[in-house]
Amino acid sequence: MARRPLIAGNWKMNGLKADGVALAKAIAAKMRENPPAVDLLVCPPSTLVDSVAQAVAGSGLAVGGQDCHSDKSGAHTGDIAAVMLKDLGASHVILGHSERRSDHGETSEQVRAKAMAAHAAGLVAVICLGETEAERDGGRTLGVVEAQFGGSLPEGATPENTVIAYEPVWAIGTGRTPTLDEVAEVHRTIRVLAEKALGAAAAARLLILYGGSMKPSNAKDLLAIPDVDGGLIGGASLKVEDFWAIAQSV
Ligand code: PEP
Repeated sequence: MARRPLIAGNWKMNGLKADGVALAKAIAAKMRENPPAVDLLVCPPSTLVDSVAQAVAGSGLAVGGQDCHSDKSGAHTGDIAAVMLKDLGASHVILGHSERRSDHGETSEQVRAKAMAAHAAGLVAVICLGETEAERDGGRTLGVVEAQFGGSLPEGATPENTVIAYEPVWAIGTGRTPTLDEVAEVHRTIRVLAEKALGAAAAARLLILYGGSMKPSNAKDLLAIPDVDGGLIGGASLKVEDFWAIAQSV
């Protein structure tokens, strides 16, 4: 089953308006010159979703948020609703990133509620899962991933409205990555979990991204793993040449 890979950039809390718009425009310009064989997505801070979406409209570069609230509106100071992201031109939203799980104590149950809100707003939920270093050292990786997958995936999830990103917490921003065999094992496990949750045909279409210190020098090997359908890129997504090189290595 051919899945069109997705290369997604998570800009995290980086970028003022001019930098963000320039970065997104530079990626869109490269896409126009040389249409990539993958889908590309950038997830700027919520302050930039509007200006980035306007700057790249019509280019094929998709824009997403980095989090959303599970409610549509209400007394949630500082939060952003999925419908608000959609209104600004977003098509995707990252949910359950390990920095949200650790900085904000987000549970899989909350991620699941957020994913339902994202789906209701017409956004694709990019649901992040991954073990800590202690969990990997303790041999608990597959159990943790299974629990997060089961707890975070909402009813009504389909390959069209949901993407899974496997991101070992200890690989994020550290320059360290699991071995190719370790990545393959977790991605295969997620595919099997998806088969049970969604059925074989839907699971075969589900995108499962790898994230955690992906960069031009390791992207080709990581992206060649059979159940790796793209990448969620943090640091390297802030440099157009690196992001583009990763997209070209699929
Ligand atoms: C991320 O934050 O989702 C991520 C994968 O970061 P990095 O690529 O910098 O490890």
